[in-house]
Amino acid sequence: MSITDLIDAPGASEQVEVSWPAPAELSVPLLGIERDSAMQVDIRLDSVHEGVLVSGTVEGTLTGQCSRCLDPITETVTIDIQELFQFEHDPMLESDEQHLVEHGLINIEPIMRDALVTSLPFQPRCSPDCEGLCDQCGVRLEGAGPDHHHEQLDPRWAALADFASGNVNEETSSENSEQQEKR
Ligand SMILES: [Zn+2]
Ligand SMILES: [Zn+2]
Repeated sequence: MSITDLIDAPGASEQVEVSWPAPAELSVPLLGIERDSAMQVDIRLDSVHEGVLVSGTVEGTLTGQCSRCLDPITETVTIDIQELFQFEHDPMLESDEQHLVEHGLINIEPIMRDALVTSLPFQPRCSPDCEGLCDQCGVRLEGAGPDHHHEQLDPRWAALADFASGNVNEETSSENSEQQEKR
């Protein structure tokens, strides 16, 4: 974004309202703004003594997947931006903590990315009370109701039960045959 008009003009300001294609990597694993989808940028640039203050919002469409039921998620997200781009490097600050005006340009992409990615949930849900899917049959628990359950033993217990009943049968039959032999 060019800000040449604002250099060395303290007090000057500019309102910028544009639609931009989204840059890559505005995402976390399950959720993000799709690359090249339209983003509405609405920011104000204020020239101050040390640099240019950028403030405003960027709006985009988040798409992703519910971490519980895997349903698709589509929602609008608004990223708040407020950052000072300095004309000169400040030796008192770590260089990764400051943003600079370079060749009359500022790059708000890293700011957008930081603000968005830190605000995205790592386990997004399609709705705040999504309970996910039944681990037995895969039905949505939300619609299935609180009574939904399966009359099924834990597979480990089920195997044990089979084993035990098999033994009992064998023992009983062999005991029977022994007894029959003795008779
Ligand atoms: Zn869900
Ligand atoms: Zn089920």
